[in-house]
Amino acid sequence: MNDQTLFTDFSRIGRRLFEEHLVGGNFGNMSIRHNGGYFITCTGSYLDADPAQIVFMPGNGRVTPGASSEWRVHTAIYNEVPEHRAVVHAHPVHAVALSLLCGSEIAAVDSEGKLLAPTITVVDDAPGTQELADTVASHLKNANVVIARGHGTFAAGKDMDQAYLFTSLAEHCCKVLLYTKPWQKY
Ligand SMILES: [Zn+2]
Repeated sequence: MNDQTLFTDFSRIGRRLFEEHLVGGNFGNMSIRHNGGYFITCTGSYLDADPAQIVFMPGNGRVTPGASSEWRVHTAIYNEVPEHRAVVHAHPVHAVALSLLCGSEIAAVDSEGKLLAPTITVVDDAPGTQELADTVASHLKNANVVIARGHGTFAAGKDMDQAYLFTSLAEHCCKVLLYTKPWQKY
């Protein structure tokens, strides 16, 4: 991936996240693996900014000033799961709402969800902590998306598009569940 494509991906996917109400305000963050480290959005930056506000994390343990406060999660995912090359963290309303009503897993009832992410793990660790980073990275070894309860989604994939798609998929799955309330039938 050349640098121009990488920068374009940040702005293009950031704009989609914002326009599709997967993030609001200056919340959420994104990263792409690159040259032994990764590029990540800056703390407090708007994800739909063009040009994207990003910094490079070198991957040697040094934290670049200005990096998103959730850099620990991104570092843990890249260290633990070699195949993940991009990470998207968003605050989708329905995913956050359903995470406050459910147990430790969400089972999809919509067709895409059943096919691509039949169960989504919900974790309880607090934002910004190493515990959250370790838990999320561990679950993403065998999945593309997890939900931090009352907080938001962490999605990863082979590129920024795949991480975005799993963010969108999780929100769609949770929205359908909230509309249909299937647990009330039993
Ligand atoms: Zn967050």
